[in-house]
Amino acid sequence: MSGKLINGKEIGNTIRQSIQQEVNALKEKGITPGLTVILVGDDPASQTYVRNKQKSCEQMGIYSELIKLPAEVTEEALLQQIEQLNSNPTIDGILVQLPLPKHIDEQKVIATISPEKDVDGFHPISVGKMLLGQETFLPCTPFGVMKLLEHANVEVAGKHAVVIGRSHIVGVPMGQLLLQSDATVTYCHSKTPDLKAITKQADILVVATGRAKMIGAEHVKEGAVVIDVGMDRDENGKLCGDVDFNAVIDKVSAITPVPGGVGPMTITMLLFNTLQSAKKKLS
Ligand code: NAP
Repeated sequence: MSGKLINGKEIGNTIRQSIQQEVNALKEKGITPGLTVILVGDDPASQTYVRNKQKSCEQMGIYSELIKLPAEVTEEALLQQIEQLNSNPTIDGILVQLPLPKHIDEQKVIATISPEKDVDGFHPISVGKMLLGQETFLPCTPFGVMKLLEHANVEVAGKHAVVIGRSHIVGVPMGQLLLQSDATVTYCHSKTPDLKAITKQADILVVATGRAKMIGAEHVKEGAVVIDVGMDRDENGKLCGDVDFNAVIDKVSAITPVPGGVGPMTITMLLFNTLQSAKKKLS
């Protein structure tokens, strides 16, 4: 079975080694990449994500700072904080951990981050450039999936890729990146009738729904490559994906496990984007 596993932890570590080397080389030139994470409120899942991001930065020698704001912070105060960071030359990347409390307009917050420091790749300018195939910060999770496919030697060009999910942070950019790699792409979502009739045609199936184990053997073509973006909890509270791993493992040619698949790649690509931002100071 292990030959079928696309090991995100291992692939992530390989990429992190080269990031580390580049960070060291930059530091020798007097440039330390810097990332600021803004966390609003005390959502436990967000706190865990933020902690992991900070820990990874420290391991790479990337300067990281956390700005914690109370859940009741005003939108205006948050926007001011971002504007200060936009003009702070020691900070190369700004990440606002989502979701934000209801009284804050998420789109307005994202649009306030300087596109030069938009290491999450969510700013409308970054999204527009991505769609046009121009150089920009790519959103970390779909970017990480593309790296997983590349490192696992999965041929994308000419393949039928089916993406389940159309969120702006995962599904939509995922399909666009696959398209730019010459896959034929189909999007599915909650209004798609007869989901399995479509997913069974997929050579590459990317699942990003947030519905624990919703994809079973009946959804998957023999020999398909399955990428499970989901980070869900099963009936026992254990971390699992959107794909029922044990049900599909005998059918697939390759699959990402949860945990240890897409998750580690998301943070790796955040480190990568922060490094790319800092490298611009060289030119
Ligand atoms: P989201 O914003 O809730 O979007 C979920 C998408 O799935 C929506 O487009 C929805 O369709 C679709 N969907 C939901 N139920 C469906 C069903 N029964 N059949 C077909 N489509 C269905 O979620 P997200 O932010 O994209 O995240 C998706 C999953 O990825 C979550 O488990 C999240 O925790 C995980 N995630 C993991 C990472 C990582 O680093 N590993 C990063 C980000 C997210 P509609 O648009 O029609 O509602």
